[in-house]
Amino acid sequence: MKKLCTFSPWQRVEATVLRELLEREGIACLVRNENLFSAMGEIPFTECFPELWVIDDEIYPRAKLLLDGWRAAGGQKRRAWTCPHCGETHEGQFGACWKCGRPRNQE
Ligand SMILES: [Zn+2]
Repeated sequence: MKKLCTFSPWQRVEATVLRELLEREGIACLVRNENLFSAMGEIPFTECFPELWVIDDEIYPRAKLLLDGWRAAGGQKRRAWTCPHCGETHEGQFGACWKCGRPRNQE
């Protein structure tokens, strides 16, 4: 197992979305600390950070590439957007459609 990235506690939704996108690409992964948010204050703050892990080390480079692409696309444009493929509306921070998996910049 290899850690892809660490999220801020308030990015928990993004961590879940990215996990689903990776799974759609056939990449087995999991989010750690996903459910620890409510325990904040009782355990060290940093242990509450959601983490995205890839199960298979060999797939890690591909997963990392996909993830970087999605996040880069999301960083360029922060406005809410509509997926041209399925019509789903997304918050500006998402670089890919959570519904059909299309990257945002393929319009
Ligand atoms: Zn879509």
